[in-house]
Amino acid sequence: MPELPEVETVRRTLAPMVGAKIVSAWTSGKGLHMARKPPRAKLQQLAGATITRIHRHGKYLLIETDTSKTLLVHLGMTGRTLIVKKGAPKAKHTHVVLDLGDRELRFVDARRFGQVDVVERGKEKEHEGLAVLGPDGLFEPVSGEYLFQKSRKKQATLKAFVLDQSIVAGVGNIYASEALWRAKLRPTTRAHKLTLAKAAVLAAAIHEVFDRALTKGGTSLRDFVDATGAYGENDEYLWVYGRDGEPCPRDHTKIRRSVLQGRVTFYCPTCQTS
Ligand SMILES: [Zn+2]
Repeated sequence: MPELPEVETVRRTLAPMVGAKIVSAWTSGKGLHMARKPPRAKLQQLAGATITRIHRHGKYLLIETDTSKTLLVHLGMTGRTLIVKKGAPKAKHTHVVLDLGDRELRFVDARRFGQVDVVERGKEKEHEGLAVLGPDGLFEPVSGEYLFQKSRKKQATLKAFVLDQSIVAGVGNIYASEALWRAKLRPTTRAHKLTLAKAAVLAAAIHEVFDRALTKGGTSLRDFVDATGAYGENDEYLWVYGRDGEPCPRDHTKIRRSVLQGRVTFYCPTCQTS
């Protein structure tokens, strides 16, 4: 599932769309996340609007226009937002097409957990997905003090704590494992046990794993591609995620895989002790 670095990679590769005028919109009529269909009538009302800015909060892409309407896109598990030449063969599972004159912006999603919606600018935070989000992990970096305060009295595991989108928006399963390894924290430790010093280390670790992944164009695993269709290269730079049985990069202990709250988790039993 795309996380912050992947969605940010998409945002950056969508930049050439700024200045493009939306000519028309097409939808497949199929339901996406929660069986909700992209709103055809609202999308068609974007005709004539010019794209002015591509923004992002957590895993939500916000494509702003010179009208009061903003296009909201969430990639879900397998969503792809692609810029292609107008009239290029339509890939299977294409659900939304915006005609931009010489190009098209297409939303392709095989498993249909993604979202495409139109929201009023200035009211983005009223959208149910955005309303619950904490600060964006890249644009609004959190401090150790912030994580320390948020973790007080929290019985949740540290893994669940860093995955909580209301704490830091954009951290998903891959970067939660990576950040906890970097900070030498055990995923099963209760969040309220974080000291201020360790919270600062964790805040720095979250920033570091995002920065690192961004320089490699994100992590692809099986599905992720940027807006040009290119795969990310961060997979080979992951420290622990997907590396069970391989040596820990710090002390060569075999990385372990476990399942916490239904999510697969990777950690080193030797150096992730607190
Ligand atoms: Zn280790």
